[in-house]
Amino acid sequence: MEYDLIIIGGGAAGQMAAISAKRANPNLKIAILDRTFALGRKILVCGAGRCNVTNINLDKSIDDHYYSNNPGFPNAVFKKFGYQNILEFFDDLGVKLYVEQKTDIGKLFPTTDQAKTVTGVLEEELRLLGIDVHLLTQVEQVEKLKADPESSAGSQFLIKVTKVDQQGHPQSESEFKSKKLIISAGGKTYPALGSNGSGYGIAESFGHRIIEPVPSALPLVSKNPLSHYLQGMKLEAEVTSIINGKRIKTRTDDVMFTQYGLSGPAILNISREISIFINREQKSGVEVEINFLPEIDVKSELEKRWNNRPDQTLEKSLYGLFPNKFAETFPRALNLEKDKKVKDLKIEEKEKLFTCLSSYSIKIDGTRSWNEAEFTAGGIDTRDVNPETLESKLTEGLYFCGEILDVDGDVGGFNLSWAWSSGNVVGKAVNNVK
Ligand SMILES: Cc1cc2nc3c(=O)[nH]c(=O)nc-3n(C[C@H](O)[C@H](O)[C@H](O)COP(=O)(O)OP(=O)(O)OC[C@H]3O[C@@H](n4cnc5c(N)ncnc54)[C@H](O)[C@@H]3O)c2cc1C
Repeated sequence: MEYDLIIIGGGAAGQMAAISAKRANPNLKIAILDRTFALGRKILVCGAGRCNVTNINLDKSIDDHYYSNNPGFPNAVFKKFGYQNILEFFDDLGVKLYVEQKTDIGKLFPTTDQAKTVTGVLEEELRLLGIDVHLLTQVEQVEKLKADPESSAGSQFLIKVTKVDQQGHPQSESEFKSKKLIISAGGKTYPALGSNGSGYGIAESFGHRIIEPVPSALPLVSKNPLSHYLQGMKLEAEVTSIINGKRIKTRTDDVMFTQYGLSGPAILNISREISIFINREQKSGVEVEINFLPEIDVKSELEKRWNNRPDQTLEKSLYGLFPNKFAETFPRALNLEKDKKVKDLKIEEKEKLFTCLSSYSIKIDGTRSWNEAEFTAGGIDTRDVNPETLESKLTEGLYFCGEILDVDGDVGGFNLSWAWSSGNVVGKAVNNVK
């Protein structure tokens, strides 16, 4: 089958690229090839099924929220398609977004609170625009054919695919040809949803350099006893990543204590640099410091409580500041007697409590795996990609967008924003098919 434009990968970025390309040039014959049984499967799990589509702070501070070995690259893309454009794109498709007020992070969700709303309107738009979708079609290899001197058509890409069944078992082989090619095959996270890193190999076959991908926005592993004692508990706290003694990033949000270590949005938010240090650089020396009461002067608050009720037990004196289970177990984790009357606490015991409530240090032994990471840090080196068009600087007619590129953003809607913006920019750039 021959097309003007083939897009490898129908996630958020690939679908946006297809829609933008077709709107810019309705004459283009476009197809999306995807290895799974449905498009946009990762969109469905975004924001725990609610889909955090974008962030109100997107345009204000691109450099503060995005990471790449080639800083400035994301900026060039968002200049062409930014926050307002994302809102207008979804508004036009009938999706109203609202800013979540629970935190001041500025996350936007569809008013339906359903990721299905987003996948539904994208699927319908692809259908209305007449874009072909080939599912269960796994791209194995791509080559650029030499232009036929007899024909006026330029050179084409030959795309070799395996048709697979729902379990991913190979069924048959076939080929596509296309004048232009966009690779939007995603990163390596949640491989069960489609993106398994195979896009990197295709890019490498055209000489593209890859910044070693590592999982980002993922839980951390720690043998620290606190996680063991507080297992299953979630509470809001301020967490700081400390790498080789240097304080790197601080975030306040929910922290979850689990049987293997730490999770929750606050931890996911500070995990990027930790994962690069441990998984890419293969080094150790990471701590996470937790301030359980960032808004309060712990010492004066506890001393006031203890002066008012000297016969209260240590555990009961913490009630109201924390969930009761924390009040019971935290002293145990510090080897303090929870039933000791506060008037009997020794000065060292009080000091230990003050210090540990405001700066409890947890040694990190590792990270969880790709199956639990929200996105990928690293990917196709953007120094080899034109930031204005997202075309390869090495192969004419080859383009990239989305998570496969070495660009990732903070938790809070920044990664989908990158997928929408880069998808739009590339879709518009390819429309002059020679
Ligand atoms: C649990 C979870 C929650 C998240 N929540 C949010 C959130 O709320 N907000 C936010 O901004 N970001 C969130 N993210 C991140 C966000 O989902 C991704 O960054 C974004 O969806 C990436 O889009 P993409 O199109 O680049 O890649 P993907 O969505 O990964 O799409 C790539 C597509 O390519 C296909 N493909 C791969 N290789 C091949 C091949 N060889 N042949 C054919 N097809 C192929 C895959 O099947 C897949 O459909 C979350 C991620 C996860 C895992």
